Amino acid sequence: MLSYIAFHIFLATILINGNLYPPILKSKNNREKTKMHEAKGEIHMKNLVILGGGYGGMRILQRIFPNQLPNDVEVTLIDKAPYHSLKTEFYALAAGTISDQHVRVAFPEHPRLKIRYGCVKRIDLKEKCVYVDDQMIAYDDLIVGLGCEDKYHGVPGALEHTYSIQSIDASRATYQTLNNLPAHATVSIVGAGLSGVELASELRESRPDLKIILFDRGKLILSAFPERLSNYVQTWFTSNGVEIVNSANITKVEPNILYNHDEPIQSDAIVWTAGIQPNKVVRDLDVEKDPQGRVVLTKYHNLPDDENVYILGDCASLPHAPSAQLAEGQAEQIVQVLLHRWKGEALPDELPTIKLKGILGSLGKKHGFGLVAERPITGRVARLLKSGILWMYKHHSG
Ligand SMILES: Cc1cc2nc3c(=O)[nH]c(=O)nc-3n(C[C@H](O)[C@H](O)[C@H](O)COP(=O)(O)OP(=O)(O)OC[C@H]3O[C@@H](n4cnc5c(N)ncnc54)[C@H](O)[C@@H]3O)c2cc1C
Repeated sequence: MLSYIAFHIFLATILINGNLYPPILKSKNNREKTKMHEAKGEIHMKNLVILGGGYGGMRILQRIFPNQLPNDVEVTLIDKAPYHSLKTEFYALAAGTISDQHVRVAFPEHPRLKIRYGCVKRIDLKEKCVYVDDQMIAYDDLIVGLGCEDKYHGVPGALEHTYSIQSIDASRATYQTLNNLPAHATVSIVGAGLSGVELASELRESRPDLKIILFDRGKLILSAFPERLSNYVQTWFTSNGVEIVNSANITKVEPNILYNHDEPIQSDAIVWTAGIQPNKVVRDLDVEKDPQGRVVLTKYHNLPDDENVYILGDCASLPHAPSAQLAEGQAEQIVQVLLHRWKGEALPDELPTIKLKGILGSLGKKHGFGLVAERPITGRVARLLKSGILWMYKHHSG
């Protein structure tokens, strides 16, 4: 009898409050609500939803708060992690030379910023809503900055049997494995772009006992950099006992075996740093993409068919290779576009070109390399500059 009464009270509560799946009801009625508010002369609060509080998402927040946000807009940030993660430092987290706390920065706080911690599963462009775990959240404007994931180029077994440094949880798993390896174990790192090089050199310093092999497709490592820098880095590796295998072609991965040109190489741990692709949520969007799977956008960074949806950072097709700097530069422009659109102002015919200042890489804690204002720099100065930039970033973001 008691449970019969309880059931009816429960049913009545749902009917009165419409409250069983509040986000779904909110989303379905969003446009009707706007009309109702307008008819009554009330302000309808627009919801700007930001997916991902990475480098791009954080820069958006830093620019619209504390005082650029119009009174009729509120912001919802959705991220699976309860902090902003310093992805550019994941190589050091994985190598065990910095602590977990070192790569976390708190999200900003503001009365008109709601933060939802959860995993974004899907975006419904038609219904103007996103699915976060099992809930639906409606948006008026949407910024998608969910970053990237490893790309395995169809190599069998690579997804299942290699470690990663593309997310904070993956980097923690990599840290555990690398640092629990017995003395003189072999670590194979696939891909000698910036992240592979930084991981290999940091691991060398962290674990001098390990045998480290760095496999790369190119004739020289760091193929995107000037040859002088590639040679400098390659020499550093040779003199620090890291083996480099150039012109590699990884054909298969099995548990603890890497196949280079079909030749098996026994490895106690294999780390994959050989390519990236946009986040799965973005890959699943039925919109135009470039050959790398990044979303093609208008010059104002929104989808060609939808001026309320902006794609940011590693998920966006832009004229430069993805980087934290590029995500931040694009975020600055998206904020300008939003501010114009919210005020009903015309947009400038062209947005300025996003200027990149250069790129810096580390070789352990003492040496580095990079391109600053298109000029190659190497050695301690490069490393000091990199540390300084990180310090400034944390200081301004925290
Ligand atoms: C080892 C390494 C070194 C690097 N070094 C440099 C460097 O020196 N300079 C440089 O400019 N760039 C560097 N990069 C590249 C740089 O980190 C990325 O280009 C940059 O992080 C992209 O920014 P973003 O805002 O697009 O995404 P991210 O910064 O990756 O942020 C994505 C956010 O989305 C969240 N997220 C992802 N999926 C979901 C989901 N389904 N649900 C909810 N939340 C989700 C994540 O938690 C994260 O907060 C490096 C990368 C690596 C891996």
